[in-house]
Order: sequence, then C-alpha cells, then structure tokens
Amino acid sequence: MKRIIAFFLFIAFLRLLPASPRGADAARPTPTSPVEFDAAAYFLDGAAAMFAESVQLRRQLHRMPELCFQEKETSAFVAAYLKKLGLEVSTGIAGTGIKAVLRGGRPGAVVGLRADMDALPIVEATGLPFASQRPGRMHACGHDAHMTHVLAAAKLLAAVRDRLAGTVVFIFQPCEEGAPMKETGGAERLIAAGILENPRLDALFGLHVLPDLPAGKIALRPGAIMANVSWIYVRIQGKAAHGAFPHQGIDAIFAAAQAVNQFQALISRYKDPGEKAVLTIGRINGGVRSNVIAESVEMEGTVRTFSDELENRIRLGMENILRGLETSLGVKTSLDFEKVNPAVMNDAGLHDLVLPVFRRALGKANVLTAEPLTIGEDFSLYSRRLPSLFFFLGSGVGNALHSPAFTVDEGILKVAPALLAAAAFVYLETKAGQ
Ligand SMILES: [Zn+2]
Ligand SMILES: [Zn+2]
Repeated sequence: MKRIIAFFLFIAFLRLLPASPRGADAARPTPTSPVEFDAAAYFLDGAAAMFAESVQLRRQLHRMPELCFQEKETSAFVAAYLKKLGLEVSTGIAGTGIKAVLRGGRPGAVVGLRADMDALPIVEATGLPFASQRPGRMHACGHDAHMTHVLAAAKLLAAVRDRLAGTVVFIFQPCEEGAPMKETGGAERLIAAGILENPRLDALFGLHVLPDLPAGKIALRPGAIMANVSWIYVRIQGKAAHGAFPHQGIDAIFAAAQAVNQFQALISRYKDPGEKAVLTIGRINGGVRSNVIAESVEMEGTVRTFSDELENRIRLGMENILRGLETSLGVKTSLDFEKVNPAVMNDAGLHDLVLPVFRRALGKANVLTAEPLTIGEDFSLYSRRLPSLFFFLGSGVGNALHSPAFTVDEGILKVAPALLAAAAFVYLETKAGQ
C-alpha cells in the first residue's frame, strides 16, 4: 500500500515539474522565456486531460442553439458552469450577457477572454447525433465551440488561480451575428453596460473558428484582421410611363443599372489596387411589369474595407456617382450608408507577446500569418477601446461557416482552451514583470 501511495506522490511531483517541449520546432533553441514556454505546455496537458468534458460541453451547447438576444438557456448553462468553478459570475448583462471574474493569488493586470453565444436561423443538415434540437436554429458559426473554449480555459486558469498575477475576466456575449436593422448588436450593448469596467480590462483575447484552415493550425496578424463593414441602401426615383414611350418617363431601372456598374469602378479604378475592398449589391427591386417604365428601384448591399479612410472615400464616390446620374438621367437618388462594424484591429504588442507562445504550443509551421478577411466581427468594438488580439482557429472539416452542414473538428477542443489560457497567463505574467 505504501508503495502505491509513494508511486502516486511521485507522479504528482512529476506533474509539478515544467512539462516537456512540444511542437515541431520544440528541439530548437527558443527565444522565449521559460514562463511562456511552460504555460503553453502546461495548459495543453490540462486541455487534453479535460477533452472528454469539453466535447460534452460543446455537444450540449450545440443541441440548444438560440438566436440573437434570445440566448436564455445557453446563458443559464454557461453561468452554472462558471459558478461551479468558483468564479464571481454576473448574469443578465445587456439581456443574456455574462461576465465571470477570476481573481488570481497575486496582484496584477486584468485580461479578458471573450466568447459569443448566438446561433443562426438555419435548418441543420449535419446528421450528427447531437444536432440541433430546435427546429430552424443552428450553431452554424461555431459559437458552441467558442463558448466551450472559454469555459475550458476558465477551468484551466481557475486550477492555477494562486499562481495568477492578476485577474481574468471571461465575457460571454449575446448577438454577434448582427442585430436587426438599426438596432445595436451584442458587443455594443455589453460595452454600454460597462463590461470592460469593474475591474477595468487592460487587454482582451478572442478567436473564431475557420473551416478553410486545417484543424491544428491558427492564423493571426497585427493590425486589421477583419473588415470594416457597412450596409448600403440606395433608392432611385424615376417617373412611370408606358413602356413603349420611354421618352415620356424617367427609367429608374436603367439608372440603377448604371449605378451598379459605376459603383464597381470605385473598387477597380478608384483605390490603390493593393488595398483590399469589396462592394456588393445583394438585393435590387424595382418596376411593376413588362410594359411600364419603372418609377423606382431600391438596392441593398455592403461595403467592406480595412481602413476608415478608404470606406469614406468609397462612400463619397457612391454619392458622386448618384449625383452624376441625377444630372445625366433626371432621376432623384438617396444613399443610406450605415456603418455596422469597424475593422478588427489587432494590437501589435499583444501579437508579438503571444506569437512565440502559440508557436511553442502548436509548432511554428502551424502558426500562420492571417490574410485579412472581408467578413466582419463585432469584436472590433472592443479592439477600438483596449489592446486586443483576435485570431483564426483552423476547424477543419470543410463546410462553410453559416452553411447547414457546418461543423468543427472536435480535436480543436484539445488546443484552443490551452491557447487562450496561455495567452491570458503569459499576459499577466509579463505585465507583473514590467
Ligand atoms: Zn457568423
Ligand atoms: Zn461567428
């Protein structure tokens, strides 16, 4: 019996020692400090040990998708888990938002980890045994995985709370997918409700799964990583007449066709070709029947850029084009240019801090430089207020985000919680040492 106890004590002692190197380039000399290295290895061990639990968490969340600002049961499920970890949990922030605070054993800075909670109005077609049990609702953007990553990171960090040099705040945000038109989304409402205060956050980390990237790889970059997003609404007013007498009317459809074509010149002829931008008209509606000159046309679309300056130039260009059509064709026009999200801006200091940690954890070949994506994320609203870092996590299995067949490779649950926990841990450790 004594020998058995001694054996287990020995194993426990081994676990206290710095863990062994990992990743493809583990044998190479490292430019990082031992603290950074140990955090990555330690939390990877922890995430692997709780993998079965993480899978259960993710599957449970996947079964119960809820839409924008309706995340009631999701929120209750998440809050219950965080309370069990002994965190200070505040619920009902901006509706269904949650903030959980983990105070470390040592004084220091405050770092946040953010997950989004909402699902989409999509009929799931994965055929998975744990598919959505809510008809017409689906976690088709991986937010079930995002919540699991942050819940698991909370557990990993709570287990070392005495060693933490500061405080970690876990943010669970409602409605990332976009609020109804003219309403504010989840991040904006959480910020207005003071989510970044008490305690005041010094830095924030977040991620999004990306099916285009193999599981086990991540991608990040300093600066803009996701786009400025605006909605555009164009109205063109002409004058109805018989289709056989166009000269007696003002053809709104003809004017709209000119507008659609000329708008694309703003992308191809008007900006530096090295700068990424998209202008898409996604809906066009006008006219009544084949032999009537259309009196009016409405169009909706979106503009994506990576700088406010370019976005403003495109907006001005659209106004000029519409004014030109008023002069040349006699239509009346209006443009409503509604800013949805600014670009997600990654802080260069945070990027440089965690890059070696992530490389240690995954191997250098698995940490890629991200191409800025022309989709938007309201993480941008945090990133405009405090140093933040958002990265893409390869989730493998191929089907596009927001598609009915979307799912993630659950192997990511062994990795992502460790990356988030290590980023938070190393950030606090580095701040404490400054
Ligand atoms: Zn989405
Ligand atoms: Zn998403």
